[in-house]
Amino acid sequence: MTIHSFSEEMRRRFGCKVWKLALDGGFTCPNRDGTLDSRGCSFCAGGSGSFAEGTAGGVEAQLERAKDRVAFKAGPDARYVAYFQSYTNTYAPVERLRALYAPLTEREDLAAISIATRPDCLGPEVLDLLAELNERKPVWVELGLQTIHEETARAIRRGYPLPVFDAAMRGLGERGLERIVHVILGLPGETADMCRETVSYVARSGAEGIKLQLLHVLEGTTLAEDWRAGRYVPLTLDEYVALLADCVRLLPPRVTLHRLTGDGDKRLLLAPLWSADKKQVLARVRAAFAEWNVVQGSACKEDGSCPNQPIRS
Ligand code: SF4
Repeated sequence: MTIHSFSEEMRRRFGCKVWKLALDGGFTCPNRDGTLDSRGCSFCAGGSGSFAEGTAGGVEAQLERAKDRVAFKAGPDARYVAYFQSYTNTYAPVERLRALYAPLTEREDLAAISIATRPDCLGPEVLDLLAELNERKPVWVELGLQTIHEETARAIRRGYPLPVFDAAMRGLGERGLERIVHVILGLPGETADMCRETVSYVARSGAEGIKLQLLHVLEGTTLAEDWRAGRYVPLTLDEYVALLADCVRLLPPRVTLHRLTGDGDKRLLLAPLWSADKKQVLARVRAAFAEWNVVQGSACKEDGSCPNQPIRS
């Protein structure tokens, strides 16, 4: 398949394989602590156990443990991305953020620091700090957009409207920070056209990277209640692969594909169960993309503009 993958991009930039190490900075989220809501996004299992692990000893200790876990395949010269994925990793006073992230910019073994957050948690002081850190070590900021459709955003309790995302993208872009946008395929009430519209929007937003992720139904979430009541039906594997192919064709070749599927916490995964076998899913994606001759960007221009219509072969 002809796609601009994360591993290919890392080899191009750093000349070696780069491993992402998931770290927990000990944050919470305004959508969970009562500031916006206390229930979280409808699909989010934060607080139910899947997020709360591995924080012992602080971030440096977490890093060493995570490196040890991949050492047998990474080798002595490997480089890493310190990846703060859980919760909202800029949701704290700027001095706490500095104390957490600044020491990481000194580490030779880190190729980059990747910080997942909400676009409504990127005030000017935080943006300036990230820009300052970015001068010492590449800092990537991952924004949880999920969808551009306001009715879906309300249904999943995302907690911010689309212009907030637009402003965050501008603020990050103006400071030269790399932007990775997280999009979920298969959200409740969304058609394939709506997913394609979201991906086209991201393509035009100037994002340097994207993560495409299947919606998982996890135990303890509102989505699980809807799924049990038959109000939510997850995508089938065939539907997901076909939609993914459309999305990849809509993304300009300059956009790095950080993820083509996700692996939800298996201890909590209720549906779709086919997604638990990530290797098999990726094999199916590779086979289908080869059969359909999927080429990233084949349905769009370099600026991301493209016909917004089904394009599967
Ligand atoms: S913003 Fe992220 S951490 Fe917060 S509730 Fe939503 S998915 Fe969970």
